[in-house]
Amino acid sequence: MKAVVCKNAELAVVERPEPVPGKGQVLLSVLRCGICGSDLHVRHHCSHMGNLLTRIGYKNSLRAEEEIVFGHEFCGEILEHGPGTTRKQRAGTRVAVVPVTRQADNIELLGLSALAPGAYAERILVDENMMMPIPNGLHEDQAALTEPLAVALHAVNRAEVKQGDVAIVIGCGPVGLGVICMLKAKGVRTVVASDFSAGRRALAKNCGADLVIDPKDESPYANWQQYGHIASFGGLLELAVDTRERLGKLPLPWWHVWRIAEGLGLKPKRPVIFECVGVPGILQTILDGAPLFSRVVVAGVCMQEDRIEPALGIHKEIDLRFVMGYSPLEYRDALHMIAEGKVSCAFMVTGMVGLDGVANAFAALGDPEEQAKILIDPRSANLQPT
Ligand SMILES: [Zn+2]
Repeated sequence: MKAVVCKNAELAVVERPEPVPGKGQVLLSVLRCGICGSDLHVRHHCSHMGNLLTRIGYKNSLRAEEEIVFGHEFCGEILEHGPGTTRKQRAGTRVAVVPVTRQADNIELLGLSALAPGAYAERILVDENMMMPIPNGLHEDQAALTEPLAVALHAVNRAEVKQGDVAIVIGCGPVGLGVICMLKAKGVRTVVASDFSAGRRALAKNCGADLVIDPKDESPYANWQQYGHIASFGGLLELAVDTRERLGKLPLPWWHVWRIAEGLGLKPKRPVIFECVGVPGILQTILDGAPLFSRVVVAGVCMQEDRIEPALGIHKEIDLRFVMGYSPLEYRDALHMIAEGKVSCAFMVTGMVGLDGVANAFAALGDPEEQAKILIDPRSANLQPT
């Protein structure tokens, strides 16, 4: 069968042996597969990624000289069941798949392992347990967005954001757009989105952002006063002293009233900021600009070493939270939210290519004005994303 392999940073369309389902496995015909930012990164920094995973105690086969078939954001149609499967989903069923597979002594990441080829191919082997039927006749273009939207859902869940909080999304690539979609699906009323690219700002608007900002002209935190945030250390001191002075005028002991107020949740408002850029320097920019008490959720994957000035975060009492991946439950939730029309994510898709167009698609994704999410349809003859 035809597949795209990456070896020594080169992408090539090759013939590979027909995959045969083993125990617990199912053979799928790939319907759509998204090109992920991590694919773009791993192409050039494969060994770096492999070494990082080794450092966190994960055995892996990510080495530049290995042949890797990328593709972990996909949906497919069941062709054949392997031995030991339940066959609850029959041949012909369209499924979305959590991209992990249990092998002899390790769980491999589909599409990010030389031992578990991904969906930049005509066919793919998956674990039966990781498949979920695509509900409601959902179109495969949107079903293939389940994986990136599960990442976004996990980030939003980890953020513990409430509907009345102000959410500020820094960077409107596929991760940022997914986060905007999920914030709106969760009923967050005020979502501010910031990106230097006019094309991506337009996509952010389509995904439901209430206010889109060009950081060249304006700070994404500029409306702090309107939103009731505290923007300066002086403002914090003012709040503390003013509250004490006001409560002192009451006939009750001020400390009782203060404690009761805190118990009722009357605390300074905090915006929730999603970092969806992932380049060196962005965390420092956020620490510099963010209002006091901001919760910063880091979803952008910066692979280089970076510098921050911790004293900035300390004087603003900023929460820094890192997020990764999702659970199978979050994956299922994302799939059903898309299928039930709770998430308007169709706008994220900006192009489609066949397997022969993958290298061109990687090049095109370098331009944020033109492309956000490109899907691969192995049956398509498109050489350029359209
Ligand atoms: Zn991905």
